[in-house]
Amino acid sequence: MTERIPAKIVETIDRRNPVRVTPAQAGDAIHTRSFSGFFRNLRLYGAGLLFLLFFGTAWLNWGDRQAVLWDLGGRKFYIFGATFWPQDFILLSALLIICAFGLFFITVLAGRVWCGYSCPQSVWTWVFMWAEKVIEGDRNQRIKLDAAPWSVNKLLRRSAKHTLWLAVSLATALAFVGYFTPIRELVRDLFIFELDLSSAFWVFFFTTATYLNAGWLREKVCLHMCPYSRFQSVMFDENTLNVSYDAARGEGRGARKKDADYKAEGLGDCIDCTMCVQVCPTGIDIRDGLQLDCISCGACIDACDSVMDKMGYQRGLVRYTSEQALAGGKTHLLRPRLLGYAAVLLMMIGAFVWALETRPLVSLDVTKDRGLFRENSQGQIENIYTLKVINKTQEPSSYVLSLVDSGPFELQGTRELRLEPGEIVDLPLSVVLTSERAASSSETLHFEVTNLNDPDIRVSAKSTFVSPINR
Ligand code: SF4
Ligand code: SF4
Repeated sequence: MTERIPAKIVETIDRRNPVRVTPAQAGDAIHTRSFSGFFRNLRLYGAGLLFLLFFGTAWLNWGDRQAVLWDLGGRKFYIFGATFWPQDFILLSALLIICAFGLFFITVLAGRVWCGYSCPQSVWTWVFMWAEKVIEGDRNQRIKLDAAPWSVNKLLRRSAKHTLWLAVSLATALAFVGYFTPIRELVRDLFIFELDLSSAFWVFFFTTATYLNAGWLREKVCLHMCPYSRFQSVMFDENTLNVSYDAARGEGRGARKKDADYKAEGLGDCIDCTMCVQVCPTGIDIRDGLQLDCISCGACIDACDSVMDKMGYQRGLVRYTSEQALAGGKTHLLRPRLLGYAAVLLMMIGAFVWALETRPLVSLDVTKDRGLFRENSQGQIENIYTLKVINKTQEPSSYVLSLVDSGPFELQGTRELRLEPGEIVDLPLSVVLTSERAASSSETLHFEVTNLNDPDIRVSAKSTFVSPINR
């Protein structure tokens, strides 16, 4: 007899208000059947690449330091040859906005493909499911093991599975924390039991979070915790590509002999084998229509295509298609809404690249001393300032300080300085009024710092010069 996962049949389907019908809601454990196919391979290679990037990048070196490192103590973010400072975090915000727009664009185009293929929650869940399959066997074996009383075999398999899950979780936590604290020292300190308290806390936290999210919560994170799944359906339109069941072709569903004239029996192409349900990581039946719990992973497409191949029917009973196409129309991929998103995205990427390219590689902040002014030994009016200069380049650099359009004002003291890469210096210096009196009691001064090796690297900052009104 064909084994079936219980799934409630719903009658109405609304694109903007997808329904929820899932055995997961009823608390049933979901045991997915393993399968192969084009979309499974796509996800496998995509996830492999993401894993390689995530774990590999953490261990990469650039010169004598880690290539990607967020040094929270030093308030610097290293990414390969570039260093970002708190003043540059506007760029990081811009990057996050670009990513958000990229996500909107892809959602309007192809629904929840981000969730199915790239979201870390899904990717890690697939890995944990693979580990489960390796140790406990395929779907039927796992269901049997679940139902079996505790035995040595069950205990060993369960222990091995949880050990493997914990090992993946620990590796994930170390790689993640390793982006914030040098990973080589982190791993060494862990293995010689000399991890500092803060690192130990975060490694423990992310190990636990990964183990619980990918091992236990799985699709429940997508169903009940992820805010993105709540609002993305409002971005869908009738041309958005979603994983859909072609009901006009598939109904009436039902079993039949392989070579039977099923059309004469009033049957459609769906043989009601429930393979599409058995492979679904969120345990839903795609034949019930567009559902909030569908993460667009394409597993049911692969499963159904393999059934169609076996039956000698045309593939695509379940496929990525639009509501428009299912209603007999044509899918319009290039529509104004999508082009609008693409245009905004391109403009934002252009502005981001421009801002990145032109970002000053030296920083200057000027703070005026709290005293208003004083008279020096030559009888000149003098104001005191502190100049904070940061060398944001990757090389030691020499700089010269000056006043732009200095007029009657003159910079006193050290004018040249040499800074190591990333060095910050607080330099006290004074400005004197060389003429008898200034044009007004408060005048704007423009300080400038210029890199002596590359005069294009320069930046200015302004402050005020205060002098007595009557002198
Ligand atoms: S219904 Fe299909 S595409 Fe949607 S989550 Fe289930 S298997 Fe993936
Ligand atoms: S896998 Fe295809 S044929 Fe089988 S139940 Fe699902 S839609 Fe019908």
